Amino acid sequence: MKTIKVSVVTPDGPVYESDVEMVSTKAQSGELGILPGHIPMVAPLAIGTVRLKKEASTDLVAVTGGFLEVRPDKVTVLAQSAERGTDIDVARAEAAKQRAERRLQDKDANTDVRRAELALQRAMNRLKVTGRI
Ligand code: ATP
Repeated sequence: MKTIKVSVVTPDGPVYESDVEMVSTKAQSGELGILPGHIPMVAPLAIGTVRLKKEASTDLVAVTGGFLEVRPDKVTVLAQSAERGTDIDVARAEAAKQRAERRLQDKDANTDVRRAELALQRAMNRLKVTGRI
């Protein structure tokens, strides 16, 4: 099986680097699957999970938006934040989820609903990557 180099980088530094058979991710326009030989492109990403399929396993990285860049020899995910499952603090993500849910439940004229919804999505995505939901 052919492979392509992938790196996931954030403003704090690199989070993931490997040769993989396929990269699947959630672009703002929908799910994207990138195989070796894909045409070059750039796509804005949604909050979601990057799935990195290798021969015997699949690695998961939670990302909170950014860009996917496909070049002939390499895929780069430039994310605002990115964590592998083992780097996710589950208690922190659960607390963030509860906070966001409470804000949405008790919302009033001052509540920034969009902000709370995005915080909820980030927390749920992190919990998904750790296998908690
Ligand atoms: P919180 O409300 O807990 O800060 P958040 O969704 O607002 O969560 P972000 O702004 O997306 O957090 O991320 C800020 C920084 O904290 C990033 O570097 C991100 O990787 C890290 N981070 C956020 N939540 C977690 C978590 N549960 N485990 C590990 N790192 C996290």
